[in-house]
Amino acid sequence: MAELLSLEEALTRILERVTPLGPEPVALRAAAGRVLAEDARAVVDLPPFPSSAMDGFAVRSEDTPGRLPVVARIPAGRPAPRELGAGEAMGIATGGVVPAGADSVIPLEHVVDRDNDVEISESVVHGDNVRPRGGDVVKGEVVVPGGTRLGAAQIGALAAAGLDGILVARRPRAAVLATGTELRSPGEPLGPGEIYEANGVLLAAALASAGADVDMLPAVADDESSHRAALEQGLAADVLVTSGGVSVGPHDLVRRILGELGVEEVFWGVAVKPGKPLAFGVRGSTLVFGLPGNPVSSLVGAEVFVGPALLALQGAKAPGPAFLEGRLGVSVRRNAHRDEFVRARSVASEDGVLLEPVRGQESHMIARAALADALVLVPRGEGELADGESVRYLTLA
Ligand code: AMP
Ligand code: MG
Repeated sequence: MAELLSLEEALTRILERVTPLGPEPVALRAAAGRVLAEDARAVVDLPPFPSSAMDGFAVRSEDTPGRLPVVARIPAGRPAPRELGAGEAMGIATGGVVPAGADSVIPLEHVVDRDNDVEISESVVHGDNVRPRGGDVVKGEVVVPGGTRLGAAQIGALAAAGLDGILVARRPRAAVLATGTELRSPGEPLGPGEIYEANGVLLAAALASAGADVDMLPAVADDESSHRAALEQGLAADVLVTSGGVSVGPHDLVRRILGELGVEEVFWGVAVKPGKPLAFGVRGSTLVFGLPGNPVSSLVGAEVFVGPALLALQGAKAPGPAFLEGRLGVSVRRNAHRDEFVRARSVASEDGVLLEPVRGQESHMIARAALADALVLVPRGEGELADGESVRYLTLA
């Protein structure tokens, strides 16, 4: 490993190899987590008509205060039969069409309603409780820009603005392959020297949350022929992510066999801890990530490098990693040579988020990492970062 790339340099080299996948139509109800392929514009004004914000009475403000005859009652979904005349009131429900002639709505709680007369003792301000037509978004305006990952708010906005179907980026197909003769599936008995296979499901979960359609290949032992067959199969995906076998040991076969299968290695080795021997390559349009086998190394590799690549493939405007700002809750020793991702718990406090590292920071300690909800970036350097120092962190879902 001649020279380690910095975190930023590694991310740049990865993202410059990404060619966004094409679009496909999708129904809104199936669009959560997908990335919008083009600007979505409102089909109607929203609201489509001046609508009442309250249950109450539509009036002309200049007629208030006063005692006004109630000439109609307007439910939501049924416009008034006629214009509101001078000196008149109409009962109106929240979401009802404010009739022409009215300029405001006085809430039910502020009046005395006597059968067909309403007594208004205060003067109503012009425009009160009327939601103007197009006040949220105007027909033809962009409701959600292309490149946005769709959550509940965006999907609701698209529906409200009248879009029935939308174009989103195709989901990247990701193949996950765990390597290691020592690996057994949970549920099977462990023989001497064996451990349970954790990275396959860990990676599948991480990649799915970045929008991938994941195919978990059966784990392979450290022999050339099973590596070759499984890697070739995985290379049919848009993204192949392997775990284990990328270090310098005699049983670390992944990089060599990927090379034999025509994968161009873009880099090997990043100055991060954990996760240093990460390998990245490409074959045709397939991106290949060889993550080191310690489960926390695989986790960090997936969150920091693979997730952003998957989002970039989907055309996301901000593929991440999405760092937030917080403060250390204790002092932390820095690593002289590598940026370190420290697993921590976040605690809301008066001066922002405090980050408390969990005990047990070794890269095999996945159970300790499971107690954390944050990956704190401790930049490499001498000495320590003081208690209270501001730092950047990623959230762990
Ligand atoms: P490697 O990167 O293959 O040298 O593996 C580093 C460490 O991670 C070793 O202790 C492996 O046993 C362990 N390891 C590798 N793959 C997995 C896996 N899929 N699940 C759990 N531990 C693993
Ligand atoms: Mg191994």
